[in-house]
Amino acid sequence: MPPRRPLLARAERTVLREVLVHGSLPRAELARRLGLSRATLTRATRALVNGHLLTEAAPERRSTTGRPSEMLQLETDTYRFLGFKLTGDRLYAVVTDLSARVLFSADEPLATAEVSDVVAQIAAMTRRVENRHPGITAIGVCLAGDIVFDGDDPVVMQSAFLGWDGVRLGSLVHEATGYTCAVQNDVLALTTAEHWFGAGAGLSSMALITVGTGIGCGLVIHNATVTGAHGRAGRLSHVIVDSGGPICGKGHRGCASSYLVNEAIVGAVGGHSLDYEQVVAMARSDDRAARRAFDDAGKALGALIAFVVNAIDPEKVILSGDGLAVYEFAAREVHDALNRNLEAEQEVDLDVQPFDFSEWARAGAVLAITELFSPAGAAHARRAAAPADTPTATAP
Ligand SMILES: [Zn+2]
Repeated sequence: MPPRRPLLARAERTVLREVLVHGSLPRAELARRLGLSRATLTRATRALVNGHLLTEAAPERRSTTGRPSEMLQLETDTYRFLGFKLTGDRLYAVVTDLSARVLFSADEPLATAEVSDVVAQIAAMTRRVENRHPGITAIGVCLAGDIVFDGDDPVVMQSAFLGWDGVRLGSLVHEATGYTCAVQNDVLALTTAEHWFGAGAGLSSMALITVGTGIGCGLVIHNATVTGAHGRAGRLSHVIVDSGGPICGKGHRGCASSYLVNEAIVGAVGGHSLDYEQVVAMARSDDRAARRAFDDAGKALGALIAFVVNAIDPEKVILSGDGLAVYEFAAREVHDALNRNLEAEQEVDLDVQPFDFSEWARAGAVLAITELFSPAGAAHARRAAAPADTPTATAP
């Protein structure tokens, strides 16, 4: 039997999240940070230890006081989380433990992009994976598109790559596999992964900007990923950065996309027979046209980062994605344009994180981990509040 998703009380969720984000902590430090009484902390940790989510480690002698303080750390042997990333033609999967460490990864072409076929393929992959990695607790799927919530039921709207609109993917995967399935936009999922387990761990505000085939932006404000009322927060690809610039595919003149996406960089170099990798190689060997295209992309990126900083004033901006070559070639242009466009004179903490495509599927697994923190009580309340004429998911 796979372990069922443990249901956690509020104090238990608070304690578990603190250890997830900050790593092992002494019991006394946890009580202090969270403002919990010793009795409440003892009750919460006992439940988490009994539930195989935390373990008690040997006391660590603290140099300042000399008193030993019992450490609490994650128990990573019991629960497994299955993450998927869907593109228009491939399915990527990873299995992680509770600390989001990747234990297994695989990918395969999608047989078709039909909803029922994709769900069947996810279910088949799940069956293969659960034999090798017992303990799967929840599934998370991320993909490009707008995700809206009908009560608790995630609905994929306008996923252009797959041609989906109005697909209740979470319910469908749950029915096909038996596991709770979280669904989120891929950039928002990656933002949550950085916020809980990556370069943004422990921050109450941050922004993630991804550059590459497209431009993605995820925002964390007051310790929570901003999803927006219609699942569309952070759409900044078409912010105008230079009103005299080139025209993007949507007809804007000088928007960030018109300079910054991989296709625009290739287009600026001119050769129709070139691809992005070739243009990167040209820039590396100091080809002037390629360097100019990256310099212009760098200016657009700097202006875009400034736009985000001016809007939300985050503690940190994380830059990632498969188009990071722009920062390799044009870091100075990025920083110059950033400083030129900031409203206030300030130091921006820009953290460039190397990117591997498997990060997307890991972000799906992080969604599954965060399912542990969705309070079942509140979920039922939200479900009850949904309009009566819209069908909602049945509880797992
Ligand atoms: Zn545009």
